[in-house]
Amino acid sequence: MPYIAVVGSGPSGVYTAQSLVKEARVPDVRVDVLDRLPCPYGLVRYGVAPDHEKIKSLQGTLRTVLQDERVRFLGGVEVGPALPPAKLLELYDAVVYCVGAAADRRLGVPGEDLPGSCSATDFVAWYSAHPDARDDGFVRGVRTAVAIGVGNVAVDVVRILARGAAELTPTDMPQAALGALAESEVRDVYMVGRRGPSQARFTTKELRELGGLADAEVVVEEAELALDPGYRDPAALPAAVRRNVEVLRGWAGAPRRGAARRIHLRFFLRPAEIIEGGDGRAAAVRFERTGPDGLGGVTGTGAYEEIAAELVLRSVGYRGVPLDGLPFDAARGTVPQAAGRVLRGGTVSPGEYVAGWIKRGPTGVIGTNRPCAKETVASLTSDLAALTGPERVTGDPLAGLIAAGVEPVEWTGWQSIERAEAALGRSLGRNSVKIADWEGLLSAARHTGDM
Ligand SMILES: Cc1cc2nc3c(=O)[nH]c(=O)nc-3n(C[C@H](O)[C@H](O)[C@H](O)COP(=O)(O)OP(=O)(O)OC[C@H]3O[C@@H](n4cnc5c(N)ncnc54)[C@H](O)[C@@H]3O)c2cc1C
Repeated sequence: MPYIAVVGSGPSGVYTAQSLVKEARVPDVRVDVLDRLPCPYGLVRYGVAPDHEKIKSLQGTLRTVLQDERVRFLGGVEVGPALPPAKLLELYDAVVYCVGAAADRRLGVPGEDLPGSCSATDFVAWYSAHPDARDDGFVRGVRTAVAIGVGNVAVDVVRILARGAAELTPTDMPQAALGALAESEVRDVYMVGRRGPSQARFTTKELRELGGLADAEVVVEEAELALDPGYRDPAALPAAVRRNVEVLRGWAGAPRRGAARRIHLRFFLRPAEIIEGGDGRAAAVRFERTGPDGLGGVTGTGAYEEIAAELVLRSVGYRGVPLDGLPFDAARGTVPQAAGRVLRGGTVSPGEYVAGWIKRGPTGVIGTNRPCAKETVASLTSDLAALTGPERVTGDPLAGLIAAGVEPVEWTGWQSIERAEAALGRSLGRNSVKIADWEGLLSAARHTGDM
């Protein structure tokens, strides 16, 4: 029976496991889904915003796959120096890397590392209870926050900053983050793009949601929007972009209602510097005003504008990080591959595959990972006969993992974490509340007694 390891339990890992167990050509397959975290689901648990319950509920679908009798979740297992790819290849017939793209892109401007300036990734990790997150006091003492970038992650962080306690309390946000956000004195939140509204990457549903928040209103500057030829004449724009422009046009024409918080959507501003205040922290962002270059891009105008900001969150994209023992294309931030087969020095590496963000880069929605995983599994299954020679069959790989020093959190351990999170929520008068630290997660995972 072929044993396949899938490294990473985010959407691409789970869709890979699903494709493998659905594959009629390998009815006796066994799939171990390994994750460095004791909790499954990758960015669906640790990225998708807590107030997006419908998307979060996708965890239920992913759960069904991980509960299949041919699939085994092994959390708390990090592939790296202590458990290198070469070791996995000794234990499994094939290994599919679905490790995502965890690092963020930088702005490359002075002042980027000042306290008060960080990546949206760090902020998301904090309010999502990722056990590696640091509590930087993000919103403490902040009245104005600036998110640099105009994709859906920027929209997420802006929305979370602008929401009130009543909207956040029903979510599974960890108690410390909820407390800090509930008490926050943030009044103005900016989302700033260097190009025009017709080039922004946010989607209409997410954009429109900003206009429906209880305690916040959206502010746009019609003259700034109108710098964009696509705003002035949207007829030639793709339908999805035209809808964005229509939403912005609606806000431009709407009267202000005097809400407690304002969300300012700004365009044609390129970050030039994060400016330090007297206390050594970020105090403002200096932007260069840009304008359309007539070729679909923008060019600097030499005019500058400062926006005060005690919190600066950059959200200009993600990139993969190299995994020790796997090849890496530093320019693309992905593992070199052909139809999901890992390439070493341009040649297919037998038994090694990739799927998801580490294969194709950080683009697309959760569902995009399904066909991506399918392609990889099609390559794997057509290679499998050649991979599973008798010399490769070593019995159940779990014994080998344990011998290598790994102490996995199995499905029962994850169920214990879920129960502990439900109990924590009950004790706080909330729905299930996420446990935000390694110690808490691991001790909950070990507490499997009351099944
Ligand atoms: C902030 C944010 C919000 C998003 N919101 C949405 C949304 O609302 N809707 C939507 O459709 N898409 C959303 N996306 C995109 C979506 O999350 C991605 O398409 C998807 O998660 C990518 O799946 P993946 O499996 O490749 O990576 P991931 O989901 O990142 O999963 C990778 C997994 O690999 C594990 N791992 C990493 N390294 C190792 C290692 N060395 N050993 C073992 N395990 C390892 C990680 O712990 C993680 O669990 C969002 C993305 C971000 C960043």
